[in-house]
Amino acid sequence: MYVVACIKQVPDTTQVQIDPVTNTLVRDGIPFIVNPYDTHALEESLRMKARYGFKAAALSMGPPNTEATLRKALALGVDEAILCSDRAFGGADTLSTSKVLAEAIRKLGQDDEVGLVFCGKQTIDGDTAQVGPGIAIRLGFSQLTLVDRIEHLDFLSRKIRVRRKLEGRYEIVEAKLPAMITVVRELNRPRYPTVPMRLKAARSEVKVWSNNDLKLDPNGIGLKGSPTWVSRIFSPQRAAGEIIGDGLNDPTGTAKLLLEKLVARDMLAV
Ligand SMILES: Cc1cc2nc3c(=O)[nH]c(=O)nc-3n(C[C@H](O)[C@H](O)[C@H](O)COP(=O)(O)OP(=O)(O)OC[C@H]3O[C@@H](n4cnc5c(N)ncnc54)[C@H](O)[C@@H]3O)c2cc1C
Repeated sequence: MYVVACIKQVPDTTQVQIDPVTNTLVRDGIPFIVNPYDTHALEESLRMKARYGFKAAALSMGPPNTEATLRKALALGVDEAILCSDRAFGGADTLSTSKVLAEAIRKLGQDDEVGLVFCGKQTIDGDTAQVGPGIAIRLGFSQLTLVDRIEHLDFLSRKIRVRRKLEGRYEIVEAKLPAMITVVRELNRPRYPTVPMRLKAARSEVKVWSNNDLKLDPNGIGLKGSPTWVSRIFSPQRAAGEIIGDGLNDPTGTAKLLLEKLVARDMLAV
């Protein structure tokens, strides 16, 4: 049975620049890293491999240079690395990204059943948190998001129990396999590659799947299959904050002041 980690290559956010003319990210000459949340997805898939004997696969969609990202996964110990790369996949929004990744997982499942898919909770560039759930829905997998602990996995009953980290509380959830799980940083501490594994990874194969392999309708993928588009990209600019009243000693008066300000700025209808 396969455990798949979806990993995305993202620009190192400490080096990101925005082209003022085109309003797009300047991608030339900037270093790329594995999306930080995906390093935890990858780590968990390797722990599943060690604990339960899964075959571990790393999957990514991106331009040809994404091969370097997948080689990092091979150096950590995945058995297979698959890159979905084709001009037809370019310009994809989250809908067509999840379509391609789901189809790749379906194709992988022709070799052996896919029991678990791990994704990061979100990326640090697109930041939408939509791709994991998009994959799950397309494959009909159980969907467990924001997981910070795997509580139990029972192959006999084909069930997995996890802890979800929500705002101010935890939730223990049980679901049927196959399942797609999005992970938060607290789940584990990613390992580092050893030198022998790095050397082995340099010689290992990264499989490249184009749309000839996935056979998706060309009108439903890439830019053509993307109903959303980025109209403008810019760094957030915030005005200086303002502290209103004394919320500690006079909460009612402060709330009143806040309401008056919001109404005055036309931000609240009364
Ligand atoms: C019209 C349009 C054009 C775009 N063109 C480009 C472009 O040319 N190049 C570009 O880089 N971005 C492009 N984007 C952004 C692109 O849509 C998103 O980066 C992508 O769909 C993933 O969404 P996200 O980053 O919000 O992922 P999230 O939904 O936040 O990711 C959640 C998790 O899903 C998995 N995941 C997400 N993406 C991938 C992937 N590609 N491979 C493997 N796993 C993944 C990871 O595990 C990740 O942690 C474009 C967007 C639009 C709307």
